[in-house]
Order: sequence, then structure tokens, then C-alpha cells
Amino acid sequence: MLEYCHRGAKPVEIHILPSQVSSLIAAGEVVERPASVVKELVENSIDAGATHIAIEVSQGGLAYIRVNDNGCGVAAESMALAFHRFATSKLAHAEDLERIVTLGFRGEALPSIAAVADVEMVSRPADAQAAATVRLVDGKQVEQGSRAAAVGTTVSVLHLFAKQPARRKFLRAPAAENHQIATLISQYALAYPEVRFSLKLDGRQALTTTGSGSLTDAVAAIHGADVAAAMLSIRWPAAGESAAFLVSGMAAPPHLSRASRGYVSLFVNRRCVQNRRLTYAIEEAYSGLLPAGRHPIAVVNLEVPPDEVDVNVHPAKADVRLRHENEVFVALQRAVRQAVLEQAPLPTVAAPAGSPRWASPEASTSPLWEHGLEVEAQTLAVAAAAPPKVSLPLLRVLGQVANTFIVAEGPDGMYLIDQHAAHERVLFEEMCGPPQAGQSAHVQGLLEPALVELSPRQEEVLLAHRETLAEHGFQLEPFGQRAYRIGAVPALLAGRDAAQALGELLDALAEETAEPSADRVAATLACHGAVRAGDSLALEEMRELVRRLEQTEAPHTCPHGRPTTVHLSESWLAQTFRRRG
Ligand code: ADP
Ligand code: MG
Repeated sequence: MLEYCHRGAKPVEIHILPSQVSSLIAAGEVVERPASVVKELVENSIDAGATHIAIEVSQGGLAYIRVNDNGCGVAAESMALAFHRFATSKLAHAEDLERIVTLGFRGEALPSIAAVADVEMVSRPADAQAAATVRLVDGKQVEQGSRAAAVGTTVSVLHLFAKQPARRKFLRAPAAENHQIATLISQYALAYPEVRFSLKLDGRQALTTTGSGSLTDAVAAIHGADVAAAMLSIRWPAAGESAAFLVSGMAAPPHLSRASRGYVSLFVNRRCVQNRRLTYAIEEAYSGLLPAGRHPIAVVNLEVPPDEVDVNVHPAKADVRLRHENEVFVALQRAVRQAVLEQAPLPTVAAPAGSPRWASPEASTSPLWEHGLEVEAQTLAVAAAAPPKVSLPLLRVLGQVANTFIVAEGPDGMYLIDQHAAHERVLFEEMCGPPQAGQSAHVQGLLEPALVELSPRQEEVLLAHRETLAEHGFQLEPFGQRAYRIGAVPALLAGRDAAQALGELLDALAEETAEPSADRVAATLACHGAVRAGDSLALEEMRELVRRLEQTEAPHTCPHGRPTTVHLSESWLAQTFRRRG
């Protein structure tokens, strides 16, 4: 895959991209936090064909970050050039942007890092007798020389953000930054099982992988031996069949689920991406198989032809755009579901005629669950090729009970819908779905900016999630000590007191026990924007809500895993009223 440089071969020349190419490159690289530095350096090592990458970090990255690799190295005469903006060896022409096969391509990382830290690079290609060194302070070269070193490259980044106090202020405690770095390296370890990774945090060996090339070994190093041993392998399309893209990797059987999201690693051409919709496809593959509130563990690599994927869409390259996203979504879901259904034992569905299944009150959340499984069992028997989708039938709204539950009739009996949970699901998917044209549909600008004063705890949460909040439409500007000016809010909060809504949202996020992820922020927002239990709804409003729920990908549960709908089938009703046997 890495065509530009092969280990042992002479490294390809570094050059500055002509402006007509650099102008096509998506927004400048921003070194936001220590983990961004680690990410860029590790990606350079992978691009250099390294099979061994050792990362050392001290004080959450602020004291130093050092990445050593045994890759192809940089020729002595190119060392200084590597720190120029748009200097890269990985592409040359505008057309190359259409077929990117390396992780880096913008030639921006090294200069961006040198702008916020002191940097030293020591590098020796295989054909050189000694390593060349270069040292930069304040982005300017202060030293160049040579010294003895093994083949490969070591980049040391010292005093990160020492001269950017504002940037430092936004960082979390070293432990939190360390955690983020460990998470990041875990992802690369899963994407590159053939690379031996070693991560030391403040001298402690936090992570090592074998580099054996076996994904099972990599999963064992990251998720533990038990999980690794139980993992089911994913391969799509099946042997002998062809498809425009390939899905491979491993998924855990449903009984090894986790209480939080974040255990799904998704790679597109081995680039780790945070694509909500595609990650969601993987979660969805477990639909009806996991209890509410549980999430799967999976490591999935999607291989698509380089010209089918645009990696030049996100400043940190954290997301990609796929030309055929819908097809990929379906393939991912199908691939994972097939692996899980074919290889994992299916929970048995007990449906003895005559005994009402859902008689006891504590079983009140299970009808749909069981119903879901029933659907699955049938679908499985009919055709493995069709991806089973647990959807909601078209419903006719009849009324409301206790201003909380919507009563509806479907093709097989009666449905009770929790209006709050249903609305949460609808809002959540609208927020996490593919970006709408212009994205601004999600945002409601305020005619008059609102001011809010936060508690220290609220501010801490705000700083930790400011990007996600911004993504969802909060436009926030610092306005004095712990005070912020709110210029815009997510559209779903339109009409509410912006300051109060933000405060409540931050409080809710602060209550989260797990590290709140982007999805959790969305779920919490959805929860805050959704109609409440106790709100009286007009028939039209209920119809609209149910119609939107029918269109969601996972209508059966709210984003927190509570059921949205309880189904009382016609046969159950008949049995309960003793209309037959
Ligand atoms: P990019 O990765 O987008 O090309 P960078 O600023 O990250 O830009 O790196 C600039 C160039 O420096 C790379 O194109 C590569 O030629 C060289 N380089 C950086 N790090 C390494 C490394 N660890 N091994 C070999 N070459 C490297
Ligand atoms: Mg790079």
C-alpha cells in the first residue's frame, strides 16, 4: 500500500508542493493538543514503512514527545526542507490528491509542530553511514549536523505550547492527555498489526504490541486475551464473490458487549476515521442482539479504491468522504451482522403458543426485543443475503396516555410509544446523520446573543467538549471570567432559554460516568431538545413524531438504550382476552 517509499530503498525526494496543488489542500493542520502531535509523528513513521514504532511521552506530552521508527529515513539534504510548509515526498500533482495511499500528504505536520514546540529530528536512511540531525526553536532551524544512529527516524518534540499559554489553558490534566494518546496508539495498533508499537507514558510501559501481523494478537494487546479469543472474523464479500470494496476485521459476539460506546474501531484503507454514520452501521449490525445500553466491540477495516474516498475533507483527517457511502453503509452493516449471526450462538426465542409472553410487569421492556429476535430468526431462515433490518411498521396514531405514551395501531396489534424516548431517537439521528447541505440547518443564530455564567465544573465540561458543542451548533465566545456569549444554538434548542439550556446540558454531561463521547453529547442534547413526558401533544404532532421515528435507523431504542416502543401483538391481545386457546 505504501508505494512512495520502501524500507531499505532510498527515500523519495521531498519537495514543496506547487501552489496550485497546495491550494487544493483542506484547511491547515492545527496542532490542537499533544495527541495531535503524536498522531502526526506516528503517521509519518507508518508512511515511512516502519515495522517498529516506539513512542515516549512525558507529562501528558508537554515535557516531551519522542517517536522513534525504523522506517526509510530522510536524506540528509532533505532534513531542513521537511519542516517547510507544503513540503512532502508523498504527492506532487493535483491528480495525486484523488488517489492518496499514504496517511500524510499535506506537508504541514512538521512545520505546524515546529511552530508550537522545539523539535529535533534525527534520521538515517539505509544507504547513509550516519544520521543527519536538525533542531528547530521557534520554527527556525538552529542546528544541523550528523551523528551515529540506527537506520530510521527519531523526532523529539519538547516544550510543547510553552509559548502558547492560551493553548495550554485548553488542555486537560496530563492524565487525561495521556489517556487520549494511549487511545490513539491503540487505534493504530489495531489498524497495523504488522507494526510493533511500544508506548511509554512517563517512563511506564503503557502498551506494547507484538507486530506479528495477526489481528488477534493486536486485539489481545488492546482489548485483552479473552476478547481476542472470542472475536468473530468479518469478511465481506464472501470468498469467491467480488465487490467494489472489502470489509474485513473482527467483531465480538453479543455477550461480550460494553457499557459505553467507543469500542468500535473503524478504518478506511487503514486510516482511523471517526465517521458517525459508518460507526453507526456497525452498532446497527447488533440491533436486537444487545440489551439496551450495551455496545459492541469491533475492529473493522474498509478497503475502497483510493479514488473512491476523499481524505482531504477534514483538517485533522479524522473523517473521510466516500463516494458511495450508502452502499458502504449497507455493506458494513451486512458484513458485521453476518459475522455475528453466523458465528455467534443466537439467543433462542421462546414463543410457546398459549402462554402470554409478556404478562409480567417486569417483562414490559422485552416484547419488542423478543419481537426483534423473531424477525431476525425469520430473516435468517429466508435469505442470508438480505441485510436484516429491524424497522418499525407504518403506524396509525390513535391517541395519548398520561401525556407520555402514544397509542398506535400497526399491522399486527398495538404499539405504545414513549414520546420522549422516540423524540430523542429522532433528534439524535438527525444530529448524527450525514451532514445536511451547509450544515447550518442544525444551527439557530440568536438575534441577541445570550450571556451565561458557568460554574467551574460546567466550564471544565465546556472546555472538554467545545469542539463537539460547536459541531452541534453552539457558537460560544469567552466573555470574561467563566462567562460566555452564546451567538447560536443547535436548532433543536431554538425557542428555549439558551443560557439555561446550555447550563443544563453541561450539568448533564458532567454527570456522565463514562468519558462523554461525541455521541453522548448528541444523546444528551437530544434528550434536552425532546418533548417531555407529561407534555400534551396534538394528534398532528404525534403523527409527525411517529412518522419521523419510522424513518430512523434504529427506531426501537432511544440513544441511551431505553425502548421507544412496546408492541402488544394481536395474538397476545387475543390470548390475554382469552379469545382463543
Ligand atoms: P506529510 O506527511 O504530509 O508529507 P509532514 O510535514 O508530516 O508532511 O512530513 C514532511 C516530510 O518529511 C514527509 O513527506 C516525509 O518525506 C518526511 N518525513 C517526516 N517524518 C518522517 C519519518 N518518520 N520517516 C521518514 N520520512 C519522514
Ligand atoms: Mg505527515
